[in-house]
Amino acid sequence: MKLNFNIEPLENWLSVKHQPLVIAGPCSAETEEQLVATAHLLAKTGKISALRAGIWKPRTRPGEFEGIGSIGLEWLNRAKRETGLPITVEVANAKHVEEALAAGVDILWIGARSTANPFTVQEIADALRGVDIPVMIKNPVNPDLSLWIGALERINQAGITKLAAISRGFSSYEKSAFRNEPMWELSIQLKTLCPELPIICDPSHICGNRELIPYISQKALDLEMNGVMIESHIDPSVAWTDAKQQLTPAALSDLIDNLTVRQPEPKDKGVSDKLAELRKQIDKIDDLVIQKIAERMNIVEKIGEHKRDNDMTILQLNRWDEIINKRAEFGKALKLDAEFTTKLLELIHAESIKKQTEIMNVTKVVE
Ligand code: PEP
Ligand code: MN
Repeated sequence: MKLNFNIEPLENWLSVKHQPLVIAGPCSAETEEQLVATAHLLAKTGKISALRAGIWKPRTRPGEFEGIGSIGLEWLNRAKRETGLPITVEVANAKHVEEALAAGVDILWIGARSTANPFTVQEIADALRGVDIPVMIKNPVNPDLSLWIGALERINQAGITKLAAISRGFSSYEKSAFRNEPMWELSIQLKTLCPELPIICDPSHICGNRELIPYISQKALDLEMNGVMIESHIDPSVAWTDAKQQLTPAALSDLIDNLTVRQPEPKDKGVSDKLAELRKQIDKIDDLVIQKIAERMNIVEKIGEHKRDNDMTILQLNRWDEIINKRAEFGKALKLDAEFTTKLLELIHAESIKKQTEIMNVTKVVE
Protein backbone atom coordinates (compact mmCIF):
# COMPACT_ATOMS: atom_id res chain seq x y z
CA MET A 1 0.00 0.00 0.00
CA LYS A 2 1.25 3.49 -0.83
CA LEU A 3 -0.22 6.66 0.64
CA ASN A 4 -1.70 9.07 -1.78
CA PHE A 5 -0.29 12.37 -0.60
CA ASN A 6 0.23 15.47 -2.70
CA ILE A 7 3.57 16.70 -1.36
CA GLU A 8 6.16 19.25 -2.47
CA PRO A 9 9.85 18.59 -1.90
CA LEU A 10 11.33 20.03 1.30
CA GLU A 11 13.66 22.29 -0.73
CA ASN A 12 10.56 24.19 -1.93
CA TRP A 13 9.93 25.59 1.54
CA LEU A 14 13.04 25.28 3.65
CA SER A 15 16.50 26.11 2.38
CA VAL A 16 19.08 23.85 3.97
CA LYS A 17 21.80 26.29 5.09
CA HIS A 18 24.21 23.61 6.15
CA GLN A 19 24.30 19.83 6.11
CA PRO A 20 22.48 18.33 7.94
CA LEU A 21 19.27 20.38 8.10
CA VAL A 22 18.83 21.71 11.65
CA ILE A 23 15.84 23.53 13.12
CA ALA A 24 16.68 24.89 16.56
CA GLY A 25 15.49 27.21 19.28
CA PRO A 26 14.21 27.12 22.83
CA CYS A 27 11.51 24.74 24.01
CA SER A 28 9.57 27.83 25.09
CA ALA A 29 9.84 31.53 24.41
CA GLU A 30 10.23 32.89 27.95
CA THR A 31 11.26 36.52 27.61
CA GLU A 32 12.02 38.70 24.63
CA GLU A 33 15.70 38.87 25.62
CA GLN A 34 16.03 35.08 26.04
CA LEU A 35 14.46 34.38 22.65
CA VAL A 36 16.22 37.10 20.66
CA ALA A 37 19.65 36.45 22.21
CA THR A 38 19.32 32.69 21.61
CA ALA A 39 18.26 33.36 18.01
CA HIS A 40 21.29 35.58 17.37
CA LEU A 41 23.72 32.99 18.72
CA LEU A 42 22.07 30.25 16.68
CA ALA A 43 22.07 32.36 13.51
CA LYS A 44 25.77 33.18 14.04
CA THR A 45 26.70 29.50 13.77
CA GLY A 46 25.50 29.55 10.15
CA LYS A 47 24.24 25.98 10.66
CA ILE A 48 20.59 26.61 11.47
CA SER A 49 17.84 26.68 8.85
CA ALA A 50 14.87 27.77 11.01
CA LEU A 51 14.17 29.07 14.51
CA ARG A 52 11.67 27.20 16.71
CA ALA A 53 9.99 28.30 19.94
CA GLY A 54 6.83 27.17 21.72
CA ILE A 55 4.52 29.98 22.84
CA TRP A 56 1.42 27.88 23.60
CA LYS A 57 2.70 24.94 25.62
CA PRO A 58 0.68 21.78 26.16
CA ARG A 59 1.42 20.83 29.77
CA THR A 60 0.59 17.59 31.50
CA ARG A 61 -0.58 19.27 34.73
CA PRO A 62 -2.31 22.64 35.22
CA GLY A 63 -0.22 25.25 36.99
CA GLU A 64 2.94 24.53 35.03
CA PHE A 65 4.18 27.24 32.66
CA GLU A 66 1.71 27.12 29.78
CA GLY A 67 3.60 29.32 27.37
CA ILE A 68 3.99 33.05 27.08
CA GLY A 69 1.11 33.28 24.60
CA SER A 70 0.51 35.67 21.70
CA ILE A 71 3.09 38.23 22.80
CA GLY A 72 5.72 35.63 21.89
CA LEU A 73 4.74 36.05 18.23
CA GLU A 74 6.08 39.62 18.34
CA TRP A 75 9.35 38.39 19.83
CA LEU A 76 9.63 35.66 17.22
CA ASN A 77 8.99 38.23 14.56
CA ARG A 78 11.76 40.44 15.91
CA ALA A 79 14.15 37.46 15.96
CA LYS A 80 13.21 36.76 12.35
CA ARG A 81 13.77 40.39 11.29
CA GLU A 82 17.12 40.59 13.04
CA THR A 83 18.55 37.19 12.06
CA GLY A 84 16.83 36.40 8.78
CA LEU A 85 15.88 32.96 10.12
CA PRO A 86 12.43 31.63 9.21
CA ILE A 87 10.34 30.99 12.33
CA THR A 88 8.21 28.04 13.39
CA VAL A 89 5.71 27.59 16.27
CA GLU A 90 3.40 24.89 17.56
CA VAL A 91 -0.31 25.45 16.90
CA ALA A 92 -3.02 23.50 18.71
CA ASN A 93 -6.27 25.16 17.63
CA ALA A 94 -7.82 27.43 15.00
CA LYS A 95 -7.08 30.59 16.98
CA HIS A 96 -3.37 29.72 17.17
CA VAL A 97 -3.35 29.20 13.40
CA GLU A 98 -4.99 32.57 12.72
CA GLU A 99 -2.64 34.45 15.04
CA ALA A 100 0.47 32.71 13.73
CA LEU A 101 -0.52 33.43 10.13
CA ALA A 102 -1.24 37.08 10.94
CA ALA A 103 2.16 37.38 12.67
CA GLY A 104 4.12 36.11 9.65
CA VAL A 105 5.15 32.73 11.06
CA ASP A 106 6.82 30.78 8.25
CA ILE A 107 6.23 27.18 9.31
CA LEU A 108 3.67 25.66 11.68
CA TRP A 109 4.00 22.45 13.62
CA ILE A 110 1.41 20.27 15.28
CA GLY A 111 2.50 18.79 18.61
CA ALA A 112 2.37 15.17 19.70
CA ARG A 113 -0.67 15.60 21.97
CA SER A 114 -2.64 17.34 19.23
CA THR A 115 -1.80 14.70 16.61
CA ALA A 116 -3.34 12.13 18.94
CA ASN A 117 -6.68 13.96 18.76
CA PRO A 118 -8.48 13.92 15.37
CA PHE A 119 -10.90 16.68 16.51
CA THR A 120 -7.97 19.02 17.10
CA VAL A 121 -6.23 18.06 13.86
CA GLN A 122 -9.45 18.61 11.90
CA GLU A 123 -9.97 22.01 13.52
CA ILE A 124 -6.43 23.02 12.49
CA ALA A 125 -6.96 21.60 8.99
CA ASP A 126 -10.17 23.64 8.57
CA ALA A 127 -8.36 26.80 9.69
CA LEU A 128 -5.66 26.12 7.10
CA ARG A 129 -7.96 25.62 4.11
CA GLY A 130 -6.85 27.88 1.28
CA VAL A 131 -3.62 28.85 3.04
CA ASP A 132 -0.20 28.09 1.60
CA ILE A 133 2.09 27.43 4.58
CA PRO A 134 4.37 24.52 5.47
CA VAL A 135 3.17 22.27 8.29
CA MET A 136 5.21 19.73 10.23
CA ILE A 137 3.31 17.04 12.10
CA LYS A 138 4.80 15.33 15.11
CA ASN A 139 3.96 11.70 15.73
CA PRO A 140 1.19 11.12 18.29
CA VAL A 141 2.30 10.43 21.87
CA ASN A 142 1.16 6.81 21.56
CA PRO A 143 2.75 4.44 19.03
CA ASP A 144 -0.14 4.45 16.56
CA LEU A 145 1.01 4.88 12.98
CA SER A 146 -2.56 5.27 11.67
CA LEU A 147 -3.15 8.26 13.91
CA TRP A 148 0.01 9.90 12.55
CA ILE A 149 -0.98 9.11 8.97
CA GLY A 150 -4.54 10.33 9.67
CA ALA A 151 -3.24 13.73 10.82
CA LEU A 152 -1.01 14.02 7.74
CA GLU A 153 -4.02 13.14 5.56
CA ARG A 154 -6.30 15.69 7.23
CA ILE A 155 -3.78 18.50 6.75
CA ASN A 156 -2.91 17.41 3.22
CA GLN A 157 -6.60 17.21 2.28
CA ALA A 158 -7.02 20.80 3.47
CA GLY A 159 -4.66 21.72 0.61
CA ILE A 160 -1.33 21.88 2.49
CA THR A 161 1.32 20.38 0.21
CA LYS A 162 4.39 21.64 2.06
CA LEU A 163 4.28 18.86 4.58
CA ALA A 164 6.76 17.03 6.81
CA ALA A 165 6.56 14.55 9.66
CA ILE A 166 8.51 14.91 12.90
CA SER A 167 9.59 11.81 14.77
CA ARG A 168 9.73 12.75 18.50
CA GLY A 169 9.48 9.33 20.09
CA PHE A 170 6.58 7.50 21.72
CA SER A 171 5.39 7.22 25.26
CA SER A 172 5.90 3.79 26.80
CA TYR A 173 5.34 1.99 30.11
CA GLU A 174 8.74 0.35 29.85
CA LYS A 175 11.49 1.91 31.93
CA SER A 176 13.97 3.28 29.44
CA ALA A 177 16.95 5.54 28.95
CA PHE A 178 14.73 7.67 26.71
CA ARG A 179 11.97 10.09 27.64
CA ASN A 180 10.10 8.84 24.58
CA GLU A 181 11.02 5.61 22.83
CA PRO A 182 12.35 6.28 19.31
CA MET A 183 10.50 3.25 17.87
CA TRP A 184 12.30 3.87 14.58
CA GLU A 185 10.26 1.17 12.86
CA LEU A 186 7.20 3.45 12.82
CA SER A 187 9.07 6.21 11.01
CA ILE A 188 10.55 3.65 8.64
CA GLN A 189 7.06 2.28 7.90
CA LEU A 190 5.80 5.81 7.27
CA LYS A 191 8.70 6.48 4.89
CA THR A 192 8.04 3.19 3.10
CA LEU A 193 4.37 4.10 2.65
CA CYS A 194 5.19 7.62 1.49
CA PRO A 195 8.82 7.93 0.31
CA GLU A 196 8.41 11.57 -0.74
CA LEU A 197 7.34 12.70 2.77
CA PRO A 198 10.26 14.41 4.54
CA ILE A 199 10.80 13.12 8.09
CA ILE A 200 12.64 15.28 10.61
CA CYS A 201 13.83 13.79 13.88
CA ASP A 202 13.37 15.56 17.23
CA PRO A 203 16.16 14.07 19.38
CA SER A 204 15.41 16.48 22.26
CA HIS A 205 11.99 15.00 23.04
CA ILE A 206 13.16 11.44 22.36
CA CYS A 207 16.10 11.75 24.77
CA GLY A 208 14.81 14.02 27.51
CA ASN A 209 18.44 14.71 28.43
CA ARG A 210 21.36 16.39 26.69
CA GLU A 211 23.75 13.44 26.85
CA LEU A 212 21.92 11.15 24.46
CA ILE A 213 21.13 13.79 21.82
CA PRO A 214 24.31 13.31 19.70
CA TYR A 215 23.73 9.55 19.51
CA ILE A 216 20.08 9.88 18.49
CA SER A 217 20.85 12.68 16.00
CA GLN A 218 23.47 10.54 14.25
CA LYS A 219 21.18 7.53 14.26
CA ALA A 220 18.40 9.62 12.65
CA LEU A 221 20.74 10.74 9.88
CA ASP A 222 21.94 7.19 9.35
CA LEU A 223 18.30 6.18 8.93
CA GLU A 224 18.10 8.74 6.12
CA MET A 225 15.91 11.21 7.97
CA ASN A 226 15.89 14.66 6.37
CA GLY A 227 17.19 16.62 9.36
CA VAL A 228 16.84 17.30 13.06
CA MET A 229 14.92 19.69 15.30
CA ILE A 230 16.87 20.33 18.51
CA GLU A 231 15.98 22.52 21.47
CA SER A 232 18.53 25.21 22.26
CA HIS A 233 18.44 27.79 25.05
CA ILE A 234 20.91 30.55 25.88
CA ASP A 235 21.13 29.17 29.45
CA PRO A 236 19.51 25.73 29.75
CA SER A 237 20.10 25.59 33.51
CA VAL A 238 17.40 28.23 34.03
CA ALA A 239 14.99 27.14 31.25
CA TRP A 240 11.34 27.25 32.28
CA THR A 241 10.52 24.04 30.38
CA ASP A 242 12.53 20.98 29.34
CA ALA A 243 15.71 22.30 31.01
CA LYS A 244 17.47 18.91 31.00
CA GLN A 245 17.25 18.41 27.27
CA GLN A 246 18.23 21.85 25.96
CA LEU A 247 21.69 22.73 24.63
CA THR A 248 23.43 26.07 24.49
CA PRO A 249 23.87 27.36 20.92
CA ALA A 250 27.64 26.67 21.24
CA ALA A 251 27.07 23.06 22.36
CA LEU A 252 24.60 22.61 19.52
CA SER A 253 27.14 23.95 17.05
CA ASP A 254 29.74 21.39 18.28
CA LEU A 255 27.18 18.63 18.09
CA ILE A 256 26.39 19.52 14.46
CA ASP A 257 30.10 19.56 13.59
CA ASN A 258 30.46 16.05 14.96
CA LEU A 259 27.61 14.60 12.92
CA THR A 260 28.49 12.63 9.82
CA VAL A 261 26.20 13.00 6.85
CA ARG A 262 26.52 9.72 5.02
CA GLN A 263 25.29 9.04 1.52
CA PRO A 264 22.69 6.35 1.11
CA GLU A 265 23.85 3.20 -0.61
CA PRO A 266 23.12 2.97 -4.33
CA LYS A 267 19.41 2.27 -4.85
CA ASP A 268 20.16 -0.79 -7.00
CA LYS A 269 21.09 -3.74 -4.76
CA GLY A 270 23.11 -5.34 -7.56
CA VAL A 271 25.29 -2.23 -7.74
CA SER A 272 25.98 -2.15 -3.99
CA ASP A 273 26.60 -5.91 -3.80
CA LYS A 274 29.12 -5.72 -6.62
CA LEU A 275 30.86 -2.76 -4.93
CA ALA A 276 31.02 -4.64 -1.62
CA GLU A 277 32.51 -7.70 -3.33
CA LEU A 278 35.18 -5.67 -5.15
CA ARG A 279 36.06 -3.81 -1.93
CA LYS A 280 36.51 -7.14 -0.17
CA GLN A 281 39.01 -8.21 -2.84
CA ILE A 282 40.90 -4.92 -2.55
CA ASP A 283 41.06 -5.18 1.25
CA LYS A 284 42.53 -8.66 0.98
CA ILE A 285 45.20 -7.51 -1.48
CA ASP A 286 46.06 -4.42 0.61
CA ASP A 287 46.56 -6.68 3.63
CA LEU A 288 48.87 -8.88 1.57
CA VAL A 289 50.82 -5.87 0.26
CA ILE A 290 51.42 -4.59 3.82
CA GLN A 291 52.32 -8.07 5.04
CA LYS A 292 54.82 -8.52 2.21
CA ILE A 293 56.39 -5.11 2.82
CA ALA A 294 56.78 -6.04 6.50
CA GLU A 295 58.46 -9.32 5.46
CA ARG A 296 60.72 -7.36 3.12
CA MET A 297 61.74 -5.06 5.99
CA ASN A 298 62.64 -8.04 8.17
CA ILE A 299 65.01 -9.25 5.45
CA VAL A 300 66.37 -5.71 5.05
CA GLU A 301 67.24 -5.75 8.75
CA LYS A 302 69.12 -9.03 8.34
CA ILE A 303 71.03 -7.55 5.41
CA GLY A 304 71.82 -4.50 7.55
CA GLU A 305 73.27 -6.67 10.31
CA HIS A 306 75.27 -8.64 7.79
CA LYS A 307 76.68 -5.46 6.20
CA ARG A 308 77.48 -4.00 9.59
CA ASP A 309 79.21 -7.12 10.80
CA ASN A 310 81.29 -7.24 7.65
CA ASP A 311 82.04 -3.52 7.41
CA MET A 312 80.17 -2.93 4.16
CA THR A 313 78.46 0.33 3.11
CA ILE A 314 74.68 0.51 3.31
CA LEU A 315 74.14 1.60 -0.25
CA GLN A 316 75.56 -0.24 -3.19
CA LEU A 317 74.61 1.85 -6.18
CA ASN A 318 74.82 -0.97 -8.74
CA ARG A 319 72.47 -3.09 -6.76
CA TRP A 320 70.01 -0.22 -6.46
CA ASP A 321 70.07 0.50 -10.23
CA GLU A 322 69.43 -3.15 -10.84
CA ILE A 323 66.40 -3.21 -8.54
CA ILE A 324 64.85 -0.11 -10.08
CA ASN A 325 65.39 -1.04 -13.72
CA LYS A 326 64.37 -4.63 -13.41
CA ARG A 327 61.24 -3.88 -11.40
CA ALA A 328 60.18 -0.97 -13.60
CA GLU A 329 60.40 -3.32 -16.59
CA PHE A 330 58.46 -5.98 -14.73
CA GLY A 331 55.78 -3.44 -13.75
CA LYS A 332 55.49 -2.27 -17.35
CA ALA A 333 54.89 -5.81 -18.48
CA LEU A 334 52.01 -5.94 -15.95
CA LYS A 335 50.61 -2.63 -17.29
CA LEU A 336 51.82 -0.53 -14.35
CA ASP A 337 53.08 2.94 -15.13
CA ALA A 338 56.94 2.90 -14.93
CA GLU A 339 57.00 6.19 -13.03
CA PHE A 340 54.53 4.82 -10.47
CA THR A 341 56.62 1.65 -9.95
CA THR A 342 59.79 3.70 -9.58
CA LYS A 343 58.21 6.05 -7.01
CA LEU A 344 56.82 3.14 -5.02
CA LEU A 345 60.21 1.41 -4.94
CA GLU A 346 62.00 4.63 -4.01
CA LEU A 347 59.68 4.99 -1.03
CA ILE A 348 60.31 1.42 0.07
CA HIS A 349 64.02 1.83 -0.53
CA ALA A 350 64.19 5.02 1.56
CA GLU A 351 62.57 3.16 4.44
CA SER A 352 65.05 0.28 4.00
CA ILE A 353 68.01 2.66 4.12
CA LYS A 354 66.58 4.22 7.28
CA LYS A 355 66.29 0.81 8.93
CA GLN A 356 69.81 -0.21 7.89
CA THR A 357 71.21 3.10 9.18
CA GLU A 358 69.66 2.41 12.58
CA ILE A 359 71.26 -1.03 12.58
CA MET A 360 74.68 0.34 11.50
CA ASN A 361 74.63 2.66 14.49
CA VAL A 362 74.29 -0.24 16.89
CA THR A 363 77.60 -1.73 18.02
CA LYS A 364 78.83 -4.61 15.95
CA VAL A 365 77.99 -8.00 17.40
CA VAL A 366 81.17 -9.89 18.17
CA GLU A 367 80.59 -13.61 17.92
C1 PEP B 1 7.94 20.85 21.86
O1 PEP B 1 8.41 20.71 20.72
O2 PEP B 1 8.37 21.68 22.67
C2 PEP B 1 6.85 19.93 22.31
C3 PEP B 1 5.97 20.27 23.21
O3 PEP B 1 6.95 18.77 21.70
P1 PEP B 1 5.99 17.47 21.68
O4 PEP B 1 4.72 17.89 21.05
O5 PEP B 1 6.79 16.55 20.82
O6 PEP B 1 5.87 16.97 23.09
MN1 MN C 1 10.10 20.91 24.69
